[in-house]
Amino acid sequence: MLLPLLFIAFLVALLVFLAVQYSIFIPEVKGIAILMYHQVNPLVNNRLCIDPEKLEQQFRYLIDNGYTCHMLENMLDSTTVFPKRSFILTFDDGYVNNLEYLYPLLIKYNLHATIMLPVKFLGKENEWDGSGEKIMSIEQLKSMDSKYISFGLHTYSHQHLRNASTETVQSEIQESIMVLRRNNLQFLPVLAYPYGGFPREKEQMVSFFNILNNNNIELGLRIGNRINKWPISNKFLVKRIDIRGIDTFWEFKTKVKKGRVKMF
Ligand SMILES: [Zn+2]
Repeated sequence: MLLPLLFIAFLVALLVFLAVQYSIFIPEVKGIAILMYHQVNPLVNNRLCIDPEKLEQQFRYLIDNGYTCHMLENMLDSTTVFPKRSFILTFDDGYVNNLEYLYPLLIKYNLHATIMLPVKFLGKENEWDGSGEKIMSIEQLKSMDSKYISFGLHTYSHQHLRNASTETVQSEIQESIMVLRRNNLQFLPVLAYPYGGFPREKEQMVSFFNILNNNNIELGLRIGNRINKWPISNKFLVKRIDIRGIDTFWEFKTKVKKGRVKMF
């Protein structure tokens, strides 16, 4: 009597484990998968940096499996039709290694990506996490064809916006818009929140969204790790999927289908 019971208990535990850890009961979600990447470099393999060979394998998978690459700007037009398997590529921080390794891949596979720019650091290096990684200059950004690349905002000084004051949010947006305009660099009215951070309390969130509206920002990108339904329910809480350099190929495929690997 005890043995069958133990066996059933074991099976139940196994199913719960698989469901939580590998989201086996979550079906494929229809909508727009906005993929978030950072650096591309064959010499480094970590959360924020992907090997170009691995990135190419991911691009091939998407193309071979009926996914359509859209431009982020398509989301600014409410009449756009997004087919079931739609994806958008975004790369944060504007690293020089994007020009070296990502751009040739976009040309090779005829794909489009949007690069989010922390404007203060253009032509300099990443100072906010101590990596010292080189960031593209305005000239380097301009050297890329708009057929493959567009740009979005990522604040002026890569600020975490969760607890930022009204003045800070305001100046972070205005300063970056000013510099990009002064340099004649076209950009989308889209803001990717550094670290995915935005105010969580209702009152602060509403005032944050008001600032975005007043500055003509049309989309705000958090992380959230979910597929976006179309039309978007809140244009300032658009979700991106964190694709990590250390993800296995299975994890990548699951993220693109479901937005996440683990259930919670
Ligand atoms: Zn960033």
